[in-house]
Amino acid sequence: MHYASYKKAILSLCNNRDGYSIAELGRLLEASIPKVSRIVTEMVNEGTIVEKGKMRSEGGRRAAVYGLNPDAGCFVGVEVGHEGLIIAVTDFPGQIIQVIDDIPFTLTNTEESVSALCKTVMHAVDRHGVDRSRVKAYGISLTGRVNQCTGYSYSYFISEEKPIRKLLEEGFGSPVIVENDSRAMAYGEYIAGAGGGEETSLFLNLGWGLGMGMIVGGKLFYGKSGFSGEIGHFPFFNNNLYCRCGKTGCLETAASGLALHRLVGEQLDAGRQSVLTPEHKEGRAITLDDILSAVKKEDIVAIECMEEVGATLGRAVAGLINIFNPELVVIGGRLSVAEHYLMPPLRSAINKYSLNLVNKDTLIKASILGKRAGAIGASLLAKDFILSEMQY
Ligand SMILES: [Zn+2]
Repeated sequence: MHYASYKKAILSLCNNRDGYSIAELGRLLEASIPKVSRIVTEMVNEGTIVEKGKMRSEGGRRAAVYGLNPDAGCFVGVEVGHEGLIIAVTDFPGQIIQVIDDIPFTLTNTEESVSALCKTVMHAVDRHGVDRSRVKAYGISLTGRVNQCTGYSYSYFISEEKPIRKLLEEGFGSPVIVENDSRAMAYGEYIAGAGGGEETSLFLNLGWGLGMGMIVGGKLFYGKSGFSGEIGHFPFFNNNLYCRCGKTGCLETAASGLALHRLVGEQLDAGRQSVLTPEHKEGRAITLDDILSAVKKEDIVAIECMEEVGATLGRAVAGLINIFNPELVVIGGRLSVAEHYLMPPLRSAINKYSLNLVNKDTLIKASILGKRAGAIGASLLAKDFILSEMQY
């Protein structure tokens, strides 16, 4: 094996676990101790890895362990949502060093919007004291259909001439990866949130719509064209409810923020009393945030509708568990802030509808990272990309 290949292999190992001794690396790479020692010294001098401390030992000399150098650079992840931007900055080994929440930004479907996005992100990063010259790559988590491999987006920032990834790279002047929001969230949760090393896990993004990110064998699963995870458009019902995709009866019509919004509206129309009744009577539009804050205020109508969404989603998750036999299912997205009301009916429906033999090993958890999952996941994906592409 060539020197460069050894270096790439060491980076890849250190990306998955911090702290390897020379002896361990020698065993894993099937190389002699003097050779590994020489390569590690070169990498330390180059600044990519660093001595992290000494190994624990029962006696004798304790060996030095090496891992990725936190000072080797950083990565910026951006969640681009309808409500604005969230930015997460991680260091070279992937520790979260900064999160900037709620940056105002209007998502529109134009090329101008791309340069506005770059400017807004760079401005926010500067303002929070992150040295932009140290940023190795940007990871952009986008709602809608995104092909991570080609870098094209099919829902927002649509450009016929160039993939969105190219436009963003020109704007940032750095490498960029683009990823679908549900997958970025799934990866963030897997590495830095609810995940505990489970190699098969599903992440349900219960936002305005319903999306899913899948981790299979410890890696994000993309499918042939990068559009996997469209669980929201699973033809689940004969409910004659029109879906955003143009079809009827999709799972999303009954298990999503959109469905919650419809259910609450129906209750208010029927005259149920709620904290939202005055606004409804005045004819003011009720937003999903209004409903989520009504849940927080313990409003019965909003809670009951949230429970209904939870039960419906639970029935769908039961089906997913039967298919995937996952170790972990994480429920995230905007609605997961109401986990207190969402999770009990969801768990109950899973118990009711899934095969007990299959589900007994599946952990069901609410998201730990909440609305930050996408930004954190995107920065970690940017890191993985740079480490895999690093040239010697
Ligand atoms: Zn649909």
